[in-house]
Amino acid sequence: MEAIIKQKNLSSFYEMDELDIMERANEFTQFLAQMHEDKHLNYKRISFNGSANTRIVWDAHTKSKKEMIYLASNDYLNLTNHPKVIDAGIEAIKKYGAGAGSVPLLGGSTDLHKKLEDKIAAFKGCESAILYTSGYGSNASSIMSMLGEKDIAIVDMLAHASLIDGCKNTNMKFFKHNDPESLDTVLSLVKDKFRTKIVIIDGVYSMDGDIAQLDVLLDIAHQHGAYLMIDEAHATGVIGDNGRGTPEYFNLSGKVDIVCGTFSKAIGCVGGFVASNKELINLLNYYSRGNMFSTAMTPQSIGSIIAALDVIENEPERRNKLWRNITYFRNSLEELGFNIGNSQTAIFPIIIGDDFITSEICRELHEMNIYVNPVLYPAVSKRLARIRMSLMAEHTKDQLNIVLDALETLGKKYNILKEQETGNNIFSIPTY
Ligand code: PMP
Repeated sequence: MEAIIKQKNLSSFYEMDELDIMERANEFTQFLAQMHEDKHLNYKRISFNGSANTRIVWDAHTKSKKEMIYLASNDYLNLTNHPKVIDAGIEAIKKYGAGAGSVPLLGGSTDLHKKLEDKIAAFKGCESAILYTSGYGSNASSIMSMLGEKDIAIVDMLAHASLIDGCKNTNMKFFKHNDPESLDTVLSLVKDKFRTKIVIIDGVYSMDGDIAQLDVLLDIAHQHGAYLMIDEAHATGVIGDNGRGTPEYFNLSGKVDIVCGTFSKAIGCVGGFVASNKELINLLNYYSRGNMFSTAMTPQSIGSIIAALDVIENEPERRNKLWRNITYFRNSLEELGFNIGNSQTAIFPIIIGDDFITSEICRELHEMNIYVNPVLYPAVSKRLARIRMSLMAEHTKDQLNIVLDALETLGKKYNILKEQETGNNIFSIPTY
């Protein structure tokens, strides 16, 4: 049995023809137990503090708590712990209570919700916005309500799962990642066969940290009569002169048809939004089922998000600190000879191209008190298995140096540095 389990990977359990759901769950549980035994189960580690640059974590192997340098948070500006963000949440909960009590259309909308709708719309240079309780729900539900059988989504092949899941009830074609020529080709093939065409991209890609070529992609979409929808999850607060994201970065604020995103990353809270013209937002308010049939965001979230947006506007030094960390870390990883793909932002992949080596390195990093995540097949293709790290403004140079030293040691040990020409060196592998 152990041999069979060892041949499997996380994709093996999506469907197992002959097994019903409970049998499948049983097989999967055995697989997880094997991963745990191999010390490769570096998921869902339990922490005893919030999203700070050091984390107190339960080590399931030594059965004790330990402090780790934490490089797995999307809380890029450390706003989850900002006093103004916390205080605003407390004030909101005191005034409005713990929950909204109803769905937005029927009673869950307060003046605080309206204030955030207006604020995020203005922040994104759009007329109007709608809120959702998660970024996942926001993406999936808004796309489902905009596109049906007669329509088509033309999606970047590395777009986030929430965007792709939203396309289940419509036609969908992928174009090559961030490749204008490929988008042009796909749109030429699609021609006018569909009622609505929406090109769907991320602003900053969550596994690679690269920035969409929004200026060119938007032009191509419009030339072909398609709209463009951009997911600003990892761009908001991070790129653009004022942290307003990818359209600001390209000087295209107000020009993108549909801007969506989440409040869960640099904004440090939870929830999602779609911003666009007021007519489309009117429609989503009455037809987007993830909004209509789901209780409105909690007052605490809304209060905290409004304060976090103020901090982003008023404390640019946080973003500057983050960017100093990004530049230092990127230069250092490149000098050491790691393959970090096309990372341009706070997200750093170390592309290894082998699930087992990736898991082994993550095991060793865990033992060295460095918290990173392995990203394995099927989350990425097998030849792009990687370690994913993300930086925060409050990481210190000393912490980054500890991580870089550890990575250098392991990079040499596992032969994954550029100058190492032997064995399973991954530099023959193109990034895409
Ligand atoms: N879009 C992207 C690009 C993401 O990375 C994520 C979160 N992983 C989401 C959407 C979903 O956001 P949330 O976590 O707020 O549901």
